Amino acid sequence: MTDKYAVFGNPIAHSKSPQIHAAFAQQTGEDISYQAILAPKDGFKDCLADFIAAGGKGANVTLPFKEQAFALCDDLSDDARLAGAVNTLVVGADGRLQGENTDGLGLVADLRRQQVDLQGDRVLLLGAGGAARGALGPLLRAGAHISISNRTHAKALELAALFPGSPIVAVDAMAATRPFDLVINSTSASLQGEVPALAPAAIGPATVCYDMMYGSGCTSFNSWAKQQGAAKVIDGLGMLVGQAAESFELWRGVRPEVEPVLALLRQQLNQGEAQ
Ligand code: NDP
Repeated sequence: MTDKYAVFGNPIAHSKSPQIHAAFAQQTGEDISYQAILAPKDGFKDCLADFIAAGGKGANVTLPFKEQAFALCDDLSDDARLAGAVNTLVVGADGRLQGENTDGLGLVADLRRQQVDLQGDRVLLLGAGGAARGALGPLLRAGAHISISNRTHAKALELAALFPGSPIVAVDAMAATRPFDLVINSTSASLQGEVPALAPAAIGPATVCYDMMYGSGCTSFNSWAKQQGAAKVIDGLGMLVGQAAESFELWRGVRPEVEPVLALLRQQLNQGEAQ
C-alpha cells in the first residue's frame, strides 16, 4: 500500500518539497505519495491529526508551524531540541510522534558536497533565527569554530549561551578585522534585497560565502560577497534538497541521491519555471 507523506505550511503553494520527494521516490522505487497541505494559521494541530488519522506516516513542516510541531512531539532528536523547531515528523508504529530538524544536516551535507569540510574552519554565522539555531548543532559536530552575529545582538548572545564550553561566540560582524574561512548568511535580508551588516574585512580571497536563500539569480548577499572578492559563493538550493534527503532517509531508511534532483531544480530556477 502507498505510504502517505505531506508538507504542512502557510503559504505552501510555492513549496518544492512535493516535487523533490516525488523525484526521490521515483529514483529509489519507494511507494509513497507526498502532498502539500495548506493548514490554517490557527489549525495546524487539527490538520496534522486528520492526516495521521487518515494513515499519514510522516510529514515535513515549514513556516510558520515549525515551533508548533516541536511542541506536539512525543520524542525529539538533539538537533530538534537545540533548534526549538521541527521540520520533519515521523509517525511511529506505536503512534508516537518523533520530531527531527534536518535543516542543519542538509546545510552541512551541501557544504561537504562543495568541498567545504568545516573541520577547524573559522565560520561566521549571520543571523540568529530558526535557520541559524538549526544549523548550530551540525556545524559544531563537523568541527567548525563559530562566531554568530545578528542585527539584534542579544539574540546572538542567547544562542551562544546555549552551548557553554563550545567554540561558539557572539560577535559584531562589523568589527571583523580578518577573513573567515566560511561566512553563512542565515538572515532573511536577501528576501528584501538587503545585505546584513558585515565588515568587508571578513571576506578574503579564500573565503567561501553561503546564502541560505536561493532564487533565479544571485542573491543580494552573494552578489555583494563576490564584489568583496570571495573565493566562491553558494546559495541555499542544495540545503533545501539536502534537508529533504535527510527526511526521506528517516522515513524510508533509504538514502536518495541529491545531485540529479538539485540539477533539475536548478535548471527550472534558471529557466524561471520555479518560484
Ligand atoms: P527567522 O525569521 O527565524 O530569522 C530571521 C533572521 O534574519 C533574524 O536573525 C533577523 O534578525 C535577521 N534579519 C531579517 N532581516 C534582516 C535584515 N534586513 N538585515 C539583517 N538581518 C536581518 O527566519 P529563518 O531563520 O527561519 O530563515 C532565515 C532565512 O533562511 C530565510 O531566507 C529562509 O528562506 C532561509 N532558509 C533556507 C532554508 C533552505 O533549505 N535553503 C531552510 C531554512 C531557512 P533579528 O533577530 O534582528 O530580527
